[in-house]
Amino acid sequence: MKGRAHLMELHLDKTYPKYPPSISASFLDNIASILGTQLPKPKELEENDKKIECGICYAQCLPIDEELGPMSGTGTDYTCENTNCSRAFHSVCLGDWLRSLTTTRQSFDVLFGNCPYCSEPVAVKINHEKKQI
Ligand SMILES: [Zn+2]
Ligand SMILES: [Zn+2]
Repeated sequence: MKGRAHLMELHLDKTYPKYPPSISASFLDNIASILGTQLPKPKELEENDKKIECGICYAQCLPIDEELGPMSGTGTDYTCENTNCSRAFHSVCLGDWLRSLTTTRQSFDVLFGNCPYCSEPVAVKINHEKKQI
């Protein structure tokens, strides 16, 4: 008898996993169609939580990149001080932009140049640079 009981257990274990996938598949489909009609529109969410695009890379957040260190994945952190412009940038992007210009001057870890949109003077700290040990 002991041997038979053991065989029955094995048989049950094999058949048990057969039914959940088919049930959960249709169940998830139902949930998706219900949520699709009842969730608020994504546009409304965006207006409540406004993120500003960078005027140079046109992305809201920097990519996740080890080289960017703590700046990785962050939003815009510099805004042009000219109130008529008020363009937002990533200090990383603005720093790269300024470095590509021959008119830019650097003093210690601050770059002095001009806003790419309104040409007003801007000063960007480039503390995200790789530190030399
Ligand atoms: Zn940027
Ligand atoms: Zn500007």
